[in-house]
Amino acid sequence: MRNRQQGDVGGSVGVPDQRQEEMTAFDGNMLEWESPMYRDAVGQFDRVAVLMGLDENVTERLRFPQKATVVTFPFRHDNYEDVDTLFGYRVQHVTTMGPTKGGIRYAGDVNLGEVSALAMLMTWKCAIVGLPFGGAKGGVRVDPMGLSRAELQRVTRRFTMEIINVIGPNSDIPAPDMGTNEQVMAWLMDTYSQHIGHAVPAIVTGKPPALGGSVARREATGRGLMFLLPQAAHHVGMDYANARIAIHGFGNVARYAAISAVEMGCRVVAVSDISGAIYDENGLDIDAVAKWTDEHRLLQGFPDAEHIEGDALFRVPCDILVPAAVQGVVTSQNAGDIQASIIIEGANNPTNLDADDILRERGVFIVPDILANAGGVTVSYFEWVQDVQKYFWSENEIVGRLREIMTRSFDDVISIATAESVDMRTAALIKGIRRVADAKLVRGVFP
Ligand code: NAD
Repeated sequence: MRNRQQGDVGGSVGVPDQRQEEMTAFDGNMLEWESPMYRDAVGQFDRVAVLMGLDENVTERLRFPQKATVVTFPFRHDNYEDVDTLFGYRVQHVTTMGPTKGGIRYAGDVNLGEVSALAMLMTWKCAIVGLPFGGAKGGVRVDPMGLSRAELQRVTRRFTMEIINVIGPNSDIPAPDMGTNEQVMAWLMDTYSQHIGHAVPAIVTGKPPALGGSVARREATGRGLMFLLPQAAHHVGMDYANARIAIHGFGNVARYAAISAVEMGCRVVAVSDISGAIYDENGLDIDAVAKWTDEHRLLQGFPDAEHIEGDALFRVPCDILVPAAVQGVVTSQNAGDIQASIIIEGANNPTNLDADDILRERGVFIVPDILANAGGVTVSYFEWVQDVQKYFWSENEIVGRLREIMTRSFDDVISIATAESVDMRTAALIKGIRRVADAKLVRGVFP
């Protein structure tokens, strides 16, 4: 076992020390997936592994993705003349637990490091809520806002062909994430099915119900976040009826979180998107905001609210903050300004490690991403089970089972937090990592 420092993601077992030094000295970026986000994910994992006294060999193994695929492919624009080269990724972190599962994101800055970090988080998330999956993640480095519908379809079909040998209904099942949606999943399913020769609905989740998608999948992540609000509020002694909620984002997760929050009697005082944020201290009319964005795509120009800078959302007076757009938005720069006493993380990795420390010291109760936004993958799991069994459940059944899994997982995590005197993120990681490590230890090493 080599001598490893906490937070050091450089190096791998079996690399002689001298070679290791040379590689580190090369440019400090010796691992292909090395990136600030990956370092954060591994830093978090290392911290908890030490706390748990995790088996050293298992610890070492879990610090790296098991498989990482990088593809480049040509993309012809609508004008026919221009052909760009696009980069795509699919990373499978752990294949011990069953098939791997995780979203595909389209964004102009997606990279292997980001996708590898998110695949690791997916492993813990699936284990926390008890799903028989390891974590995966994928993406294409392209801004979907700049694509026509035909271009989006071409990118999706070509990317699917590029990764067709690493995905499968029993091996790795994609889902929507930032910048992708039901339609993108439908094209992915169609491309895969054409290749295989018959319809394979179980290849992907988050598809339209007409193709074997699950009812209530679209709402699942946002709704799942809000299922945890009563327990979180109870923990901090807050009456959540009429509580003020600020939600960063207004995409899939944020929108359905906002709708659920209103249904629960809360006031959604602010939402945002890439064009900025809107604010109303008395509560926004979320139906009107949703209608506006359906018609105009962006919040820009919405008439019935005050328009503020996107970042200003983190400073508005509120009781609950739900970051539900992108990673890395809660930082040491704004953590001191956040007025909420509860943060429910809808986005993956929205809070960096420094900010996490500041918020913990300030006594803010954080329901971490790997627990809070697990509603999406949970209903994706239901969808996959329904596709495999070719037997579909009612919306009531799905929502009831989702609520049961989310609230039970919250109870499990808070019990660990209390027993071990740790915060919720650490407790959630303990739960997830323990389950994966146990499975790895009993499977043993092949050959
Ligand atoms: P989405 O593409 O539907 O929405 C993203 C939102 O973020 C949009 O409102 C967009 O305008 C905003 N945004 C994009 N870039 C931004 C920036 N630089 N600054 C501020 N806002 C920005 O995506 P989504 O599916 O709602 O996913 C949001 C987050 O939730 C991501 O972190 C994703 O990984 C995570 N997540 C999604 C699901 C799911 O089921 N969709 C499940 C679990 C976690």
